[in-house]
Amino acid sequence: MYEPVILRNIGVPNSWDIDVYLQRGGYQGAPKALRNYVPAALIELVKQSGLRGRGGAGFPTGQKWGFVPKDLFPKYLVVNADESEPGTFSNRALLEHDPHQILDGIIIAAYAIGSNAAFIYCRGEFALGAQRTQAAIEQAKERGYIGNNIFGTDFSLEVYLVRGAGAYICGEETALLESLEGNRPMPRTRPPFPAIAGLYNKPTVVNNVETLCNLPHIVERGVEWYTSIGTPPRNTGPKVYCVSGHVRNPGNKELPLGVPLRELIYEHSGGMIDERPVKAVIPGGISAQMLNAAHLDIKMDFDSLAAVGSMLGSGGVIVMNDSVCIPHAVWRASEFFNHESCGKCTPCREGTLWVRQILDRICNGRGRLEDLDLLTDLAGKIAGGRTVCALGDASVNPVISSIKLFRDEYEYHIKYGRCPTKN
Ligand code: SF4
Repeated sequence: MYEPVILRNIGVPNSWDIDVYLQRGGYQGAPKALRNYVPAALIELVKQSGLRGRGGAGFPTGQKWGFVPKDLFPKYLVVNADESEPGTFSNRALLEHDPHQILDGIIIAAYAIGSNAAFIYCRGEFALGAQRTQAAIEQAKERGYIGNNIFGTDFSLEVYLVRGAGAYICGEETALLESLEGNRPMPRTRPPFPAIAGLYNKPTVVNNVETLCNLPHIVERGVEWYTSIGTPPRNTGPKVYCVSGHVRNPGNKELPLGVPLRELIYEHSGGMIDERPVKAVIPGGISAQMLNAAHLDIKMDFDSLAAVGSMLGSGGVIVMNDSVCIPHAVWRASEFFNHESCGKCTPCREGTLWVRQILDRICNGRGRLEDLDLLTDLAGKIAGGRTVCALGDASVNPVISSIKLFRDEYEYHIKYGRCPTKN
């Protein structure tokens, strides 16, 4: 039986209060990191743990920290708490219910990269999460865990909470940095990468909320323990899967990285509502390529999902039964991406609109058979590194994968002018 690590405090009364966090063994990782490790050793520890970023890209966290130049000051830690990917809601739970665990991780990350200032960029809609996290910062300051000479060491750290204003693109790290600087959030071209020139043109590490929550446990319990969870060496540790859709018991499920999709649905999410069959699964938020029932035995980790052309992304698992009309579901996703495109680059700005318009006519009985080839061709002209940020590729992932797996549904729509699921 797996014992939750990241979500262990969720559901405990007043879990967001510092005394409850301390009673439950919190704030052990940060002081141990500051007292027992020099920054380079801490980076090495996190590299050995195999921790990969939980926000989407899955880049090794220790390696990311290692890119930060040692001799440039100041440096910044930025926490990406702008969780906006449809189907994803783990960061929200952590901000609302366990903000001290995030601060525990922030102290460790800031110390490792040599930063004395951390900014939490919190999604604007997360009013309760922002309120509790701000209160947690103040509580931690009162105890001397944030501020000057924290935990009695010579390390000082200030933590600031900043609220976003509702743009999905601010989850992209360079757009987030633009927003923090007070600018319109348009992603930056790279290089330079944020590790060299990030916030205010200074070396910056951007880490996701869930990623940071892993750190106190790695420091406290060690690499051997951490790598015993999941599928070492490349997919280690716990993962919070956000399960939604046609399952009986949706919600955040913390399990070892690599849990089979079938087990996630049928053992941990109560199975399918009314025993209807799984038709499609989006495994990592709507930016991920769709899977079908033939993929139920896949391991839900970074590499296994990449091997079948999809991705773990942010861990938002959307389960759809046979009542779902796939072209309609993809049409809704295309509206979202078109709305959220920042407009900086032409393939994304224009392409997401054209994709939306073609899907609109297919779903409204005005489709043409050649539209499927047109969609595929158009998708190929948006994806493949033609855009400044990953939104371009993400916007067409559901389109390409669904035409591949459910082409017959699109053809039915075009031929009969109605949903194949509504007969
Ligand atoms: Fe903006 Fe889209 Fe280009 Fe990203 S890909 S920079 S969201 S226009």
